[in-house]
Amino acid sequence: MDHAVRIIRSEALNHNVVRLTLERPEGYNFSAGQAIDFKLPRPGLEERVSAFTFTGLATDPHLELTIKCYPEHRGITAQVATLKAGDTVLISDPFDTVALKGPGVFIAGGTGVTPYIAVLRQLQVEGRLAGNTLFHFNRTSADAFLVDEFTAMLGRDFYGVLSEQEAPGFLHGRIGADLLRKHVARFDQPFYTCGPEGFVTAVKNALLELGANAELIDVQF
Ligand SMILES: Cc1cc2nc3c(=O)[nH]c(=O)nc-3n(C[C@H](O)[C@H](O)[C@H](O)COP(=O)(O)OP(=O)(O)OC[C@H]3O[C@@H](n4cnc5c(N)ncnc54)[C@H](O)[C@@H]3O)c2cc1C
Repeated sequence: MDHAVRIIRSEALNHNVVRLTLERPEGYNFSAGQAIDFKLPRPGLEERVSAFTFTGLATDPHLELTIKCYPEHRGITAQVATLKAGDTVLISDPFDTVALKGPGVFIAGGTGVTPYIAVLRQLQVEGRLAGNTLFHFNRTSADAFLVDEFTAMLGRDFYGVLSEQEAPGFLHGRIGADLLRKHVARFDQPFYTCGPEGFVTAVKNALLELGANAELIDVQF
């Protein structure tokens, strides 16, 4: 079922990622890591649907989405960049994405980090962040977002990684066994990966090469 909800606020998190704060329909419930189908009631976009993940807490009075905008697609996300307070969007009921199997290592490419934003914020509220690690891969520091929040949450267990730039405070490199071997002490723990298909395939292959248990690798793309 679609719910028409109004935008309360739109904020830029970097040059192409926006955080939308949305009104929360009466009785609308979700849990950390769940996503929705999103439609924009605008001419030419009636048939289009994009999936996005809630990044706010399930107990927040409002809903929050964190969305990367692709002007070149000329689809929904190009228009998301133009949304402002008072505009209406359509969201579906929530559906599951990440399946948590206990504390572990979260490895995200770009906005593949969105399910982990929600999960890590929830774990923080519950005092259960210890034992979790986050790797967030981006091309350059301009593409990174929420670095201060991830650092405050996880300290040395947060690694911002840049594939196309060397910059202070970030690791430099591409996803692969070499990088993970250097920074991950144990491969017998749960791993969670989300991002573009090629990225998550590379993560999974690297983890299997390093001896991770295939049943403890959660893959989303
Ligand atoms: C379960 C799930 C949860 C997700 N959660 C989030 C989230 O929280 N935040 C987030 O930012 N993203 C998330 N995504 C990804 C998000 O759904 C897509 O990025 C989004 O749907 C892209 O929509 P779009 O309107 O930009 O383009 P699309 O609807 O993908 O494409 C529109 C048109 O652009 C063209 N096109 C497609 N790719 C390209 C390209 N590379 N270059 C040029 N043209 C192209 C195609 O012809 C297509 O007709 C999630 C995806 C899933 C499956």
